[in-house]
Amino acid sequence: MTKPRVAIFDFACCEGCQLQIVNLEEDILKLIDVVDVVEWREAMSEQSHEYDIAIIEGSITREEDEHRLEIIRSRAKILIALGACAVIGGVNKMKNNFDFNEVRQCVYGKDGQMQHLNTERTKAVDEVVQVDFKIPGCPINGAEFAQIIRSLLVGKKPFVPDYPVCVECKAKETICRYEYNQICLGPITRAGCGAPCPSAGWRCFGCRGMAENPNVDAAQEVMTLYGLTVDDLKQKMVLFNSK
Ligand code: SF4
Ligand code: SF4
Ligand code: SF4
Repeated sequence: MTKPRVAIFDFACCEGCQLQIVNLEEDILKLIDVVDVVEWREAMSEQSHEYDIAIIEGSITREEDEHRLEIIRSRAKILIALGACAVIGGVNKMKNNFDFNEVRQCVYGKDGQMQHLNTERTKAVDEVVQVDFKIPGCPINGAEFAQIIRSLLVGKKPFVPDYPVCVECKAKETICRYEYNQICLGPITRAGCGAPCPSAGWRCFGCRGMAENPNVDAAQEVMTLYGLTVDDLKQKMVLFNSK
């Protein structure tokens, strides 16, 4: 039986999600056994224009990247967005809140030699091409990645929770970060990570993006209970959920 051909591509990102795949160790060996990896810049030098599944890491920040992504889409039967940068634009979208000349000057200096470098409004992958599956998180959760790929390979719809992080957090009986005067984005953020940040004493930063049907009333109630406003919440959303 022919194995599905998989190619992994990166755009604007830190490549941390690919590292999570590499770190899968035994699981990655099992996956590699049932697929044929034909292109993966981080792990091999071969390249191919023929693949069934394209996995895209990173957000789209230049016109030439849009063209490259469109070509990849036209060659792939299934396209998967990998990680917050690809799924929601991620931290790269913070740039969209500023004047791009200011952004260039901030990165390269007022008289920098690189001022000519192109930079456009940051886009998530699905703002450019159709995406079949999304694997959220910054970085992705390796076990979730393996589960999603395995489901796809056996023709099953992968499971990605659509309830908020609070559900997983409360199941772990973690003391709520609001009790420590922190604004946590758990009530509106998609679960599936197991709420590791509140368990480790951090608020949820919203790295998995918004739950599809966030309980806005409950979030509002929490804000009111702790003497906070919706604007306070929105300020915390800039890191991962800028437009
Ligand atoms: S989602 Fe996070 S870890 Fe993954 S590539 Fe983007 S910045 Fe890196
Ligand atoms: S608001 Fe944050 S800390 Fe509180 S229950 Fe929800 S996820 Fe946990
Ligand atoms: S708790 Fe929030 S910030 Fe932490 S991994 Fe989960 S979604 Fe991301």
